[in-house]
Amino acid sequence: MTILNRSKRCRCLPLLWERCRATRSITYLENTRVTRIDEGEHGLSVDTTGRSGEQRLDIDYLIAAIGRRPRMPALDPRLEGRVGPLTEAGILFLAGDVRGGRTRQASIAFADGVRAATEIAAAAGRRDACAS
Ligand SMILES: Cc1cc2nc3c(=O)[nH]c(=O)nc-3n(C[C@H](O)[C@H](O)[C@H](O)COP(=O)(O)OP(=O)(O)OC[C@H]3O[C@@H](n4cnc5c(N)ncnc54)[C@H](O)[C@@H]3O)c2cc1C
Repeated sequence: MTILNRSKRCRCLPLLWERCRATRSITYLENTRVTRIDEGEHGLSVDTTGRSGEQRLDIDYLIAAIGRRPRMPALDPRLEGRVGPLTEAGILFLAGDVRGGRTRQASIAFADGVRAATEIAAAAGRRDACAS
């Protein structure tokens, strides 16, 4: 396994970093940018450029983790500044990474989804009760 970091800064949990450094089968390359991804002989070929110059890696799988800022491309630009008020009013529900907090974990995203569904069901129940 090869980890490419385009900068020198490592922002993972310190425990993960220690484990990574202690694992011989993991190669870590800092200040290394991916310049091209193409089909390789067996999987993919990835061109990189870094301190030690340019190199090509032949790989089976590629996982890209790019960007920490949540994006909601489907959201109409007119609503961008109104996410907070719409959420507080119980009209818009955000669940998971898109909430933009520091905690980005699968279990938290799952729990957010359950909470949102429960709140929506409760609000729908209140509306039904008012209608009858
Ligand atoms: C490399 C990496 C390693 C990780 N390791 C762990 C780990 O070990 N343990 C852990 O708990 N968490 C880990 N995470 C974090 C975890 O993956 C996320 O917290 C979790 O997936 C968030 O779930 P989500 O549903 O909010 O977002 P996502 O899983 O990103 O799901 C969002 C979905 O929305 C879809 N989508 C986007 N735009 C649109 C659109 N306009 N219309 C329709 N669909 C759209 C996307 O295609 C995607 O399927 C890791 C994340 C990364 C990147």
